[in-house]
Amino acid sequence: MYDGSRLRTAGLCVIAVVLVLASGPHAQGTAPASPLTLVTRDGRRPLPTTILNNQEFIALDDLASMFQLTVREDALAGGVTISYKGRTIVASADQPMASVNGRVVTMPAPVARIGRRLFVPIDFIARAVAPIYDSPIDLRRASRLLVVGNIRVARVVVRIDAAGPPTRASVEVTPALLVSSMFDAGRVLVRVEADMLDVAPPPAPAGLIDQIQATNQTTIIAFALNARAATPRVSTTTTTESTRVTIEIPPGAPAQETSAAPPPPPAPPPLGTLPAAPPAAEVVTPLPGQRTARLQTMVIDPGHGGDDAGVRGSKGALEKQVTLEVSRRLKSLIETRLGVRVVMTRDDDRAVSPDGRDAIANNSKADLFLSVHVNGAPAPAMKGAEVYYLRLDRAGEDARRSTAASELVLPAVGGGTRPIDVIRWDLAQASHVDNSSRFASMLEEELEKHTPMGPRPLQQAPIRVLSGVNMPAALVEIAYLTNAQQEQAVQSAEFQGGVAQAIFDAIVRFRAFLEAPATP
Ligand SMILES: [Zn+2]
Repeated sequence: MYDGSRLRTAGLCVIAVVLVLASGPHAQGTAPASPLTLVTRDGRRPLPTTILNNQEFIALDDLASMFQLTVREDALAGGVTISYKGRTIVASADQPMASVNGRVVTMPAPVARIGRRLFVPIDFIARAVAPIYDSPIDLRRASRLLVVGNIRVARVVVRIDAAGPPTRASVEVTPALLVSSMFDAGRVLVRVEADMLDVAPPPAPAGLIDQIQATNQTTIIAFALNARAATPRVSTTTTTESTRVTIEIPPGAPAQETSAAPPPPPAPPPLGTLPAAPPAAEVVTPLPGQRTARLQTMVIDPGHGGDDAGVRGSKGALEKQVTLEVSRRLKSLIETRLGVRVVMTRDDDRAVSPDGRDAIANNSKADLFLSVHVNGAPAPAMKGAEVYYLRLDRAGEDARRSTAASELVLPAVGGGTRPIDVIRWDLAQASHVDNSSRFASMLEEELEKHTPMGPRPLQQAPIRVLSGVNMPAALVEIAYLTNAQQEQAVQSAEFQGGVAQAIFDAIVRFRAFLEAPATP
């Protein structure tokens, strides 16, 4: 009997996680508080700025060390003299202007003093320093990049041209550059052969696109496709000005890598931890909520145990005993015939809490979870097997809909990006309900061939132990212990072997579903 009563319904509410990014590159009115990023051949580093009277300033000593400038305060002239290889800038502390090698240029504001430090408006870099400097300096305000030296920067604009389905998206790269693309593990990856990207903020995901990753931290733009997407068509056209990649995503069977593609690497690093231009094959990493594509580990959860005996038959049979026996049979079948690793939440007569069972499953990074129980009812006539998968309440449904796009990628301190997971632990099952339903149907169909089924053989219910597992999951009640005939049957090797075989057959089918190539 499953433990539905202990479901923490209060736990199934979604906390809206609102992530407010520090005023980003496109804040209007007030200047951004986030640092500029200095980009050179040697790499990149943050360059702090300061807001003063709605103007963005940068410390002159920072500029001096960055560009090897010599700075000298000139009290008499009421300003600052800055020299570089015999060239000179005189910046005024009273007037919004500077003299650059004898030529006067305007500035948004005069030199400012905060404490002991001098500050200049960030436009000073482009208007005063750039004209006297040996290497090109390019301040890209929209993307907050300060690019120094001959670095190939590709301007990238991502658009969703049609939400569809079919969903059509495009990536426009300026200037025209070599662009490669690939499709793997539900993602379209577009790699630009540039030193770095200057990316406009991508549009919100739409249609069959669940997530768009486009940052100036890598040279790869990633589109995570919805599980309902079929294999996309990707085409590239190049004009003298730009290169355009068009991605057309038809609806269809859940997308996956084609059978011709090599298997993904065993432990690919997350996208954000890669250097600027890694080989495209290394960036493939499945998003949570998508088909795992493999069945390598499964968890069998023998119901009850220890003080919790579960249902008792009138002749003394205990549910906790039967669930363990059937689970052991199943484990041995799976390991010897499928080569799939099996983790048991208990393998002796001990009590394990629902949270403890979930933790074992989640920590083992399993691809499938099955809880085994034997039913009980006041009416002794009740008999037959039943299969359950999780029913979400409304909050859970909302989470399920948003979960595919729930992994946000934030810029990380020191460069790169960091994916964060905003889904609550107790909603872990939400993103797997579709596959859980599929697995449960297969269980029902296979059990039917071996054993009598209950009046409602396939049901959805808010079952505590299923709600916390981050993988497809189902629960089976193999019989009614309160039925005298079934109490005797479930203790027999014949009955237990038949049930184990039926569950095994369902697992074989589910594995085939997981590992089947996508239908183009
Ligand atoms: Zn039970």
